[in-house]
Amino acid sequence: MGVPTLGCHCAVCESADPRDKRTRPSILLAYGGRNVVIDTTPDFRFQAMRAGIDRLDAVIFTHGHADHILGLDDIRPFNLKQRGAVPIYAAADTLAILKRQFSYIFEEAQPGTTIPLIDLHTIDGPFDLFGARFVPISAIHGTQPVLGFRVGKMAYLTDFSEVPESSKALLGGLDDFILDALRYVPHPTHSTVEQSLALIAELKPKRAWFTHICHDLGHVEANAKLPEHVRLSYDGLQFEVEL
Ligand SMILES: [Zn+2]
Ligand SMILES: [Zn+2]
Ligand SMILES: [Zn+2]
Repeated sequence: MGVPTLGCHCAVCESADPRDKRTRPSILLAYGGRNVVIDTTPDFRFQAMRAGIDRLDAVIFTHGHADHILGLDDIRPFNLKQRGAVPIYAAADTLAILKRQFSYIFEEAQPGTTIPLIDLHTIDGPFDLFGARFVPISAIHGTQPVLGFRVGKMAYLTDFSEVPESSKALLGGLDDFILDALRYVPHPTHSTVEQSLALIAELKPKRAWFTHICHDLGHVEANAKLPEHVRLSYDGLQFEVEL
């Protein structure tokens, strides 16, 4: 829902700390002059402006929920500037959702108007993008599947409630693990702080970063209770990873 959450006046929603202002979850991988975004959130336009990206080379989707896809229409300026389609990578079930939610993208544009130009790629295993290898990590998000991605020594896994053993086997030896930790209270489709800490203890990444955090967690307070190598991420956080 984002923090501040609409209509809420809790301490975190009213916090003056900029790290308590959370747009919807997405990451940008910038390497070799390329910009690859994982998910286009409803805040995509603002996030891309804030990051100052001048081009968009690919979008990879984790799943088809509104908070991860609704910014797709805002890739149009990059289509115009780059004079071409942006490659989109997603699992078949997510592509089906995109086709339903954005049906106009798959129809003829009215002359003189713009619609997003995309090249669809179905994820059915690891794939290479501009010299980096993306390994999809299957997980369970309540009753539906979700994909995380490992690139080199970094992995991004949001919106999960359960990680199968076969996927855990792909998450060893990480330097940085970015993972869902919605809140302290159990949730049917998301990992809690306690569950994510247990997963971190099992997989032993050098560093772990929580994401998809709701207003139950204040940045400073929640960080103070976590082990040193586990931190809450925040909007605009940047770090280097080995691809
Ligand atoms: Zn609140
Ligand atoms: Zn979701
Ligand atoms: Zn989500």
